[in-house]
Amino acid sequence: MEEMVFQIGPIRPPSEANSLLLRVTVNCPWNRCKFCMLYKKYDFHTRSVAEVKKDIDTMAELRDRILQYKTANGWDIQAINNEYQTLTTDDQRWCYQMVFRWMTEGDCNSIFLQDANTMCLRADWLAEIIRYVRVKLPEIKRITSYGRANTLAKITPEDYKMLKEAGLDRIHSGYESGSDKVLALIEKGCTQEEQIIGGRKVREAGIELSIYFMPGVGGRELSDDNAIETAKVINAVNPNFVRLRTFVLRTGSLMEEVRDAGGWTEDTDMNKLLEIRKLLAHIDPTKANGRITSDHIINLLQEVNGDMDTDLPWMLEYIDSFLALPKLEQRKYQMARRMGFPLDWKQLWRMRKSDRKIVEDLAKNIVDEKDWEKKLHTYMDHYI
Ligand code: SF4
Repeated sequence: MEEMVFQIGPIRPPSEANSLLLRVTVNCPWNRCKFCMLYKKYDFHTRSVAEVKKDIDTMAELRDRILQYKTANGWDIQAINNEYQTLTTDDQRWCYQMVFRWMTEGDCNSIFLQDANTMCLRADWLAEIIRYVRVKLPEIKRITSYGRANTLAKITPEDYKMLKEAGLDRIHSGYESGSDKVLALIEKGCTQEEQIIGGRKVREAGIELSIYFMPGVGGRELSDDNAIETAKVINAVNPNFVRLRTFVLRTGSLMEEVRDAGGWTEDTDMNKLLEIRKLLAHIDPTKANGRITSDHIINLLQEVNGDMDTDLPWMLEYIDSFLALPKLEQRKYQMARRMGFPLDWKQLWRMRKSDRKIVEDLAKNIVDEKDWEKKLHTYMDHYI
């Protein structure tokens, strides 16, 4: 099989797990956020429209190739496997797998425009690429992209209109915090005002907005500010999705310098949960009606999901019921969760007896709180 490859960047939102990934820009044009280790060694550049179109052509060719193996009874997996075995490079295999997964598990639903801030591309170029996707991959229902808040604030309503008409459906944006103090501390390169202006422009253009926040990123010192100011942004913007990503200090990240400079202390795992509670308690359900999503293993209580206009009381009650547990029970769940067992706290009994024993021993025997946090951290440090 001829070389059918396209570029794939390193990251996509969890909700785009089965999407095609189309690399429109490469790396991050800002690249200064203290907590982020993704692109630090690499320079940002854009790709030409022609280059990106060529990748779209390759995706369409791979789709047509794989479609040959669709029969009235489903997929001819043997034939697909045979073809897969003929691929000679990792790049070929990754591209083939991605298109196949998109056609099967992804139901040809979505394409995500990589990398970190594709919204910074000239709007007419981006619109041309999006239109080309619509022509070559007409089965796609959703086109989404990352965009930084200060970029979103600068785009004109006319350009948003053009992008929406071209077929852009959703923008994902890592706001991280609504607090200006925290944003400055982590060098996010935007302000609360820009977040609100940018977010409102996206919503007014009829494009969905999915924003990410990091409870805990302000440290112990700015925990309240982080929760309250973040809720302010949510109330002002009313995004379609709020995605929670509990902050964990990653070894080797520039946040270590922030910590070492003094004035920032990583909060405990439980206090970060309390911060999430405070954030939720400050969201105004008469102003925000999008969905809260905890779609990442880094969140202690991943079940905290729901619509902001109707489900906040339930989410708060759920957190409170966990907080009301005896400390040993809380600890057992914390450890199980941080070790990677995909359970909610009501299901600890489903663990194997031997695993339960390990978790229980750790919860009982690590008495010193600092040692406890250190132990939890050894697991969380490895989460992406
Ligand atoms: S904007 Fe995003 S990708 Fe760029 S440095 Fe910040 S967190 Fe990392």
